[in-house]
Amino acid sequence: MSLSDELRALLKHSQVIDTPAALRTYSYDASFLTQLSPQPPDAAVIARSEEDVISLMRYCHEHSIPVTPRGAASGQTGGCVALRGGVVLALNALNRILEIDVPNMQAVCEPGVVHAQLNERLAQDKLIFPPDPGSTRMATVGGMAANNAHGMRAVKYGPTGAWVLGLRVVLPDGTVIETGGAPGWGESSRPPGPAHSKAKQSSAGLELTKLFVGAEGTLGVITQLRLKLMPIPPAKAIVLALFDQLENAGQAVQVVFAAGITPSAIEILDERCVRAVNLYRPAMNLPEVEALLLFEVDGNPPGVEYDAAQIAHAIRPLAKPGDASVEWSTEPKRIAALWEARSVVGAAVGTLRPNSNRAYCGEDICVPVAKIPETLRAIQDISKRHNIPIATYGHIGGGSLHPGHLIDGRDPDEVRRVLLVADDVHALALRMGGTTTGEHGVGAVRARFMPEEHGPALDTMRRLKHALDPRGIMNPGKIFPEEAPLLEAEEPIVLPVGEPTRVAVDPG
Ligand SMILES: Cc1cc2nc3c(=O)[nH]c(=O)nc-3n(C[C@H](O)[C@H](O)[C@H](O)COP(=O)(O)OP(=O)(O)OC[C@H]3O[C@@H](n4cnc5c(N)ncnc54)[C@H](O)[C@@H]3O)c2cc1C
Repeated sequence: MSLSDELRALLKHSQVIDTPAALRTYSYDASFLTQLSPQPPDAAVIARSEEDVISLMRYCHEHSIPVTPRGAASGQTGGCVALRGGVVLALNALNRILEIDVPNMQAVCEPGVVHAQLNERLAQDKLIFPPDPGSTRMATVGGMAANNAHGMRAVKYGPTGAWVLGLRVVLPDGTVIETGGAPGWGESSRPPGPAHSKAKQSSAGLELTKLFVGAEGTLGVITQLRLKLMPIPPAKAIVLALFDQLENAGQAVQVVFAAGITPSAIEILDERCVRAVNLYRPAMNLPEVEALLLFEVDGNPPGVEYDAAQIAHAIRPLAKPGDASVEWSTEPKRIAALWEARSVVGAAVGTLRPNSNRAYCGEDICVPVAKIPETLRAIQDISKRHNIPIATYGHIGGGSLHPGHLIDGRDPDEVRRVLLVADDVHALALRMGGTTTGEHGVGAVRARFMPEEHGPALDTMRRLKHALDPRGIMNPGKIFPEEAPLLEAEEPIVLPVGEPTRVAVDPG
């Protein structure tokens, strides 16, 4: 019997996909790697229950077949693509919000719930799950936990991991565990434990929740999440600041923190991004400066007015001369209009170079805040050295930068050069004392930087991986360099014509 036939014997017929056309859907995510080299799995399985996941894992463990979990495939690292064959396990049909506990400010949900949909539902109870990726309308909470996604509000509220209280995980051999408290929360076919945990904090033992958050599906499959929530802040304000010099923009971030203010977001657009936004939305008519910063503050109404005024006051000496270069507002319409500039930038950068593709590689570094100006200049040098235009934006408050490389994907030499750009950007991040990935994760594309990034700690990660997954079936080819495929810049690769790499929404 073929693998698909075996799987059909285990699961319902409609859940097993094996036709080449349908499998192509599962052969890529938002990474440049998988656009250059899509990898269909041998089969895809659409899980409709935790029991499906358990049966699949038991079978694959017994037969040493690789399993790659998949949420919405909005990841930019090849993380949910079966680079070593086997089965892609699609979890987006497990999309129920199982419980919203308003008094205890927590929710239990399945991994396939889409982030924006969760927050739309929570808003009815004036609650919010604060992590805020640009992919909110696509990314699943399971994928966010697996990648420890961050987003714009991370500067104040931290990453997804800070808001995960517990997980149900199916381990590679099919065993189910719950982390973060006594078992029994959520729906289960197994009898609940003695005390259905609602604890919002715990010091009991090793923090297994944190082990699975950010493991990118290499240690097990998340089948439920218990999430911490907070009340929606009642008020917001925004500050817009224009800078003649990148260095001043970087310094402005430090000045604001030194003034004792923690904004809920600090975003930067460099000169190319500002030009792109103006081309894309001429009505915005932003002044074309070296850098534009947006600060958001949230809290109670008098508090946000005070913070916004303080930010404006603190950064004015660094901003471009002239009254119009710093403004702040609590007007919802003005706030929405300014965030519009930030939210269209991912789509807008494509307008800088007609017929170009955005190559998602070397797209997600994070450096110490004090190194941001130097890093921004160095990215411009890399752009010149390889003759590839780069437009950079990002969550500058935490040092997270998204260089957007624009290439003609039909030109093999540009494809070769952009891979060199990615290498240089990753090396730059490490040289600055930062990381090759601030929020998108390692997947296959950054695996070869992990020895330099972690040193001997990588071996401890390997030992943990081996202890939980001795047969190496969980998402092989990710995080660990010895398993990851090599995509060398020297390889002659041509992006297939008509293969779109530009997404029409806000990356990062
Ligand atoms: C336009 C755009 C904007 C973005 N903006 C941001 C941003 O602001 N901040 C940010 O952090 N990221 C951002 N991203 C990256 C991406 O959206 C995040 O990494 C997101 O968390 C991925 O979720 P997903 O459901 O698409 O997961 P996938 O891409 O499907 O999978 C990601 C990883 O998680 C694993 N996985 C998925 N589900 C499970 C599960 N249930 N159990 C175990 N492992 C699992 C997969 O195996 C894979 O390794 C952006 C991406 C795009 C395309």
